[in-house]
Amino acid sequence: MAQAEYYFERLNKQLKTDKFIFPPSVEIDLTNTCYQNCYYCNVHDFRKNFPDVGTKEDYLKLIDLLPKEDCYDITYAGGGDPLANKDANEIFNYSLDKKFKIGIITNGMGIDKLSFTKDKRPDWIGIDIDTVDEDLYFKIRKGNLKKVLNGIDKTISDFKLYGTEMTFKCLVTDYNNTKENFKESIELASKMGFDMFFVRVAHFKDGHIIQPATTWDDLENYLKEQCEKNNIRLGCSFNKEKEFLINKNKFIEKCFGPMLSLIFAADGKIYWCTEYRGIKEYQLGDWIKNGIKDLYSNDIVKEMKKFDQCHKCSHQCRFYENFKFINKIIDGLEGEDAGHKTGFF
Ligand code: SF4
Ligand code: SF4
Repeated sequence: MAQAEYYFERLNKQLKTDKFIFPPSVEIDLTNTCYQNCYYCNVHDFRKNFPDVGTKEDYLKLIDLLPKEDCYDITYAGGGDPLANKDANEIFNYSLDKKFKIGIITNGMGIDKLSFTKDKRPDWIGIDIDTVDEDLYFKIRKGNLKKVLNGIDKTISDFKLYGTEMTFKCLVTDYNNTKENFKESIELASKMGFDMFFVRVAHFKDGHIIQPATTWDDLENYLKEQCEKNNIRLGCSFNKEKEFLINKNKFIEKCFGPMLSLIFAADGKIYWCTEYRGIKEYQLGDWIKNGIKDLYSNDIVKEMKKFDQCHKCSHQCRFYENFKFINKIIDGLEGEDAGHKTGFF
């Protein structure tokens, strides 16, 4: 069965039977510690109030428990910076031994301590850099840009040799929101050997919203031009921002997040979504005590279908597009018109 058809069948089956199938991707937080302090960080409170509880052995056991027939990708991301866990390299390599594809999202500090080979390497690494102006970098991230770029410089040629896709990640914030700043970042990203320049808009828990200097469409066109000129691919999620601005005062009616990804956080809990680490109503289980068992003891699929009766979420959601399509499946879009034919997947 083609991959797209397979994904459609999985979603369709869950929606029809209300039986939860473990998602194809998970995020695992290796720590809540971070040696930077970005002003936009949305896990400040989580980090302060929820210490790490997982040991290296707990993480290795978790990787063993992930059902290989349903789950293929692990992203090591937030809570803190994954590389701040002293066992990160060993845990990454263990998941590769177990044949998972892995991705890593990091601020880049300590990247030169990782060790991989051509046969055992991450599929991709995204490094949050935001700007190549040292002063702005410090304002945004309270970190040392030179040190981070040195570490990347030492390692990026190895990663490229292994076939790992390297992404320069840039969040649009109050400080770096000018065309000139994006231009400089794209030029340096290309010069250093990054494969992709990825941009999205920062979101703040206090509700303040970043406005584009002109319009999001104009900025996207400008970024396209600059990326083409510098021979680097552009990844841009302004569509998500535009959807958010239209929907920001509405609560999301149905949320199918856990069908697409789950978060195994460093406080030992499984969460519905990355936006709600530390929030009890979004906890789906205790992975350190119970592994993945808790996921099957609740009616999660039913809860997804009547999400707005159980939860009030109006976040900028990374799954907006996916949800639109899943809602079409619920409305009976099957067979010839399904996702694999319409090009959704
Ligand atoms: S690097 Fe990530 S986890 Fe660390 S402060 Fe910045 S946004 Fe938060
Ligand atoms: S942001 Fe809200 S709607 Fe989107 S996955 Fe998370 S909980 Fe669901």
